[in-house]
Order: sequence, then C-alpha cells, then structure tokens
Amino acid sequence: METEGLELRAIRDITKTKEQEEKLRKYSILEAKSKEMEQFTYIASHDLRHPLQTILSYIKVFDKDYAKKLDEDGQMCLHLISEAATRMDKLVLGLLDYSRLSKIKQLETVNCNDIIHAVLDDLNLAIQATDATITVNNMPTLSAYPLELRQLFQNLISNALKFKRNNIRPEINISAKQDKTGYTFEFHDNGIGIEEKDREKIFQIFQRLHTHEEYEGLGLGLAYCKKIVELHNGQIWVRSKPGEGSTFYFTINT
Ligand code: ADP
Repeated sequence: METEGLELRAIRDITKTKEQEEKLRKYSILEAKSKEMEQFTYIASHDLRHPLQTILSYIKVFDKDYAKKLDEDGQMCLHLISEAATRMDKLVLGLLDYSRLSKIKQLETVNCNDIIHAVLDDLNLAIQATDATITVNNMPTLSAYPLELRQLFQNLISNALKFKRNNIRPEINISAKQDKTGYTFEFHDNGIGIEEKDREKIFQIFQRLHTHEEYEGLGLGLAYCKKIVELHNGQIWVRSKPGEGSTFYFTINT
C-alpha cells in the first residue's frame, strides 16, 4: 500500500500452507488410485470366476463320463488339472472377498470376549486335534465392525494353530490393553516363529513362506488382517523368535 511516498507491505510466510496443500493433493491422488485399484481387483476377480466355473464344471463332466477310458497317467493329469483349477477358484474368490472388505457398513458396539469365544467354538476341531491351550484375558467392549473383527481374530488364531512346532502343543495367549488412543491386542503363540526378513512381507497378499504341501493355505489371511485393522484406523505388526514363537500385535483406534 503506497501513500505519499510511504510504502506499507504485509509479508506472510505461506510455505507451510503450500506444503500442506501439496500433501493434500498427493493424498487425494493416492486415494483415487487406491479406489481404482480396488475396483479393478473386484471386477477382475468377479469376471475371472465365470470362465473358471465353466472349466470346473466340465472337469466334473469329463471325470464322470470319460475318466474310466483314460490310462493311469491320463487320470493323474486330470486329477492335477482339477486340483489346480479348484485352487485357482479359491484364490480368485479370496481376492474377490479381499476387494469387498472395504465396502464397510456401520460401526457397532462389540464385546470382544463374545467374539473370541464364538471363534474358539468354530475352531474347536483344530483346537482338539492339536491339543492346544488357549488363554484369553482382558477382552474389551469397543466400537468396531463385528464381522470383520471376528475374521481378524479367526485368522490369527487359526494361524497360531497351523504354524505350530512338531510335537509341541500349541499355547496361545490372547490379551488387550487400553491406551490413550484406543486398544492394543496381543496374540502370542509358541509356534515355528518368523525370520526377521519376512516380518513385513507376510502381510502382503499371496505372500507365503511355505509351499501349500507343507502348510495348507492361500496366503490371504494376514493381508485380510492388515486391511481389517486399517479399517479400524489401526496398525498390525509381529515380533517373533524363530523356533520359539510369535506375537502378533494390532491396534484399534475407532
Ligand atoms: P497362509 O496362512 O494361507 O499361508 P497368511 O497370510 O495367513 O497365509 O500367512 C502368511 C505367512 O505368514 C504364512 O504362510 C506363514 O509363513 C506366516 N505366518 C502367519 N502366521 C504365523 C504364525 N502364527 N507363526 C508362524 N508363521 C506365521
């Protein structure tokens, strides 16, 4: 502002505002890309299932009507084709479920103790088969997505049962504690453990450390867990001693 040779200037440092604007711009690009990716995963997995279902039903027809006419090698090939197609169908279905996870409904008040005990009932056969001991302490009642939380608990407990050490009875301790922002849960087991270099990779989709002949599975369980925890504004991580056991931690900040 200039008056009679006098000049008045107002200077304001807007670096921070500009930096924040830039951060927001990058964030919304990332968010749009992630939505696009989710939509792509949904459409791809949904559409891939149709031809797969056709393959699977013709394998059944072929098996029923023509398998007798094949020699032993031919029958073995048919069996392997059928197994691979069934596994692929499970993977595609898993991917479809994974992409559906973000289409979230309403937060509800959830009693974690009830959920854990429902999961333990469901896993009763595996618990008995492995002679596992499971202790549950201080489960809170909190605001969460009940079905997703149940799946999270189920994946962690069934992994703790599955990745047990040979001839060692699984011991699993589950607990939670409240802090300023929410809750931290711990799922501790005395299983085979996880090497340091693999502790981040295991949360990525389809990442497995073993063949499915060694341990049955699709490599989806922990990717689901990560996505479910993130839907609850939380984080998931693991600490482990290979050959001694692992503890999975996650936070819920709803
Ligand atoms: P899956 O169980 O189908 O292999 P997950 O995504 O649940 O898939 O787990 C990925 C990998 O992480 C597993 O293949 C296994 O190597 C490792 N893992 C998961 N949970 C445990 C655990 N409690 N103890 C040892 N290793 C584990």
